[in-house]
Amino acid sequence: MGNPIDFYEPTKEEKHDHFIEMQNHCPLCNSELNIKVTSYLENNTVKEEAYCESCNIKTRSKDHKFH
Ligand SMILES: [Zn+2]
Repeated sequence: MGNPIDFYEPTKEEKHDHFIEMQNHCPLCNSELNIKVTSYLENNTVKEEAYCESCNIKTRSKDHKFH
């Protein structure tokens, strides 16, 4: 008797999809970037490259590792 009962309100499980956030515009000329994402399944890496055709520059090259 007198046992405290804890009520756990069911909380909605929030699932956030982790998309790779991409800046889609060139910081220099503000034109749209070409985003190239290559995934290497064998070592769980996603390579992300952003390229501006107008400026002829590669603005980004990142490796994302996922488990
Ligand atoms: Zn540019």
